[in-house]
Amino acid sequence: MKKILVILLSIFVLGQSSAALAASPPREKLNLKAHPSYQIDAKYDSKENMLKGHLKVKFKNRYKKNLKEVRFNVWSNAKEYQDQGGSVTITNMKSNHEPVNFKLENSVLQVFTRPQALNKVVEIEFSFNITVPENNDRYGRTDKIVKLGNALPVLAVYDSEGWNTDPFYEYGDSFFAEASEYNVSFLTEKSMKVVSSGSETNYYYKNEYTLHTFKAKQARDFSLVLSKDFLKQTLPLKNHVINVYYLPEQQSQLNLIKQTTRDSFELFEKTFGKYPWKEFDVALTDGWFGGMEFSQFVMVSLYDGLSEEDLKFNVAHEIAHQWFYAIVGSNQHDEPWLDEALASYAALLYKNDTNNLTAGPVEDPYYKLTSTVTDFMNKGDEGINNYYYMTYIYGTTALYDLRLLVGDKPFYQTLKQYIRENQYKIATTQEFIKLFERKNKLDLSEYMNEHRITPESN
Ligand SMILES: [Zn+2]
Repeated sequence: MKKILVILLSIFVLGQSSAALAASPPREKLNLKAHPSYQIDAKYDSKENMLKGHLKVKFKNRYKKNLKEVRFNVWSNAKEYQDQGGSVTITNMKSNHEPVNFKLENSVLQVFTRPQALNKVVEIEFSFNITVPENNDRYGRTDKIVKLGNALPVLAVYDSEGWNTDPFYEYGDSFFAEASEYNVSFLTEKSMKVVSSGSETNYYYKNEYTLHTFKAKQARDFSLVLSKDFLKQTLPLKNHVINVYYLPEQQSQLNLIKQTTRDSFELFEKTFGKYPWKEFDVALTDGWFGGMEFSQFVMVSLYDGLSEEDLKFNVAHEIAHQWFYAIVGSNQHDEPWLDEALASYAALLYKNDTNNLTAGPVEDPYYKLTSTVTDFMNKGDEGINNYYYMTYIYGTTALYDLRLLVGDKPFYQTLKQYIRENQYKIATTQEFIKLFERKNKLDLSEYMNEHRITPESN
């Protein structure tokens, strides 16, 4: 069986057979104006628990003269996942069609290229074999669901700090990427239902497999969730297609989730601006975590003891990340509050619960609102608790206080402008504060001191 799978892989994934070329999906022309562009050909077979394939990314070297090293984040190779039996193997590394050296250590992949001139297109390609560990995390598999959240290697963001390859943590997010174009062909068993970033553009049957093709524009990640048991319901919205995928045993929660999804999505479009893509998916999963955001879809996990109110909050919080993660990118490791506090505030807005937020900061001044995920995680369990408290709870108080300072209408107008100006870009705390100061003719230094907002220390 394995041999057949390998042959199929070489036909579909590597495209080496001329007979197969006719059956292959058409290749899109890469748009390199501003954003990285990926072509990924991958295959997942549930008998092997392995995601295999080939990744090619093209991007313009807007970063520096004689760029000699390109870095990727390979979060599926983080130590936590290796300890659970996960692994990632990279082979056939090429830069601009020439074999080059590379090094993969935990979640960081370094590629050593020839010096690349400024403003020239760099093309990196390699093959990957990703063994998916058994767990109930946002990346991993149970007997019912395979969650490939941030499993694929992704080009790191290059900024004034150089390549951003911050450590991965089980708690908190370190996911940070430029908005990119993805063209993906994905081969998997015919019985498998596939939820992904972007939209499916076509599918082809091949024996017991289906080759799906997907396109995702301006996506921060290309993530997938697979299950043979998924059922699907589509919500009737005017300008978008919203699908909810669920397991038969999750049926009892379905109406609540559909209602929350529709109502919060509509509220956020009204409050923060238009959702710029056609499709959005909610995949109900069986994880321990409340939920997780990806580009153009979210996971929401249902676990024992989850109250209706918490479930509504979780669904709305994850959906709000489409505006505060997917549309406006931010460095989730360096400034976790910037997307998390805004997503939590939005979820409270949906729950009509933003009228008296008074939680204070934790006592220990070590913890800032703008502390990095590493700052929190370095303090063990206390740090994990304080990460959730400061980022998700105190962060919403800080936003509430900002609203009191500038007034309701200007607060929401400024937020809308923040999203409009930073659509498909990467925003920082500094820019967020500066925009509020500029638009509302205020000096927010005192507000920043009071709320432990110290962006310069990141
Ligand atoms: Zn979140």
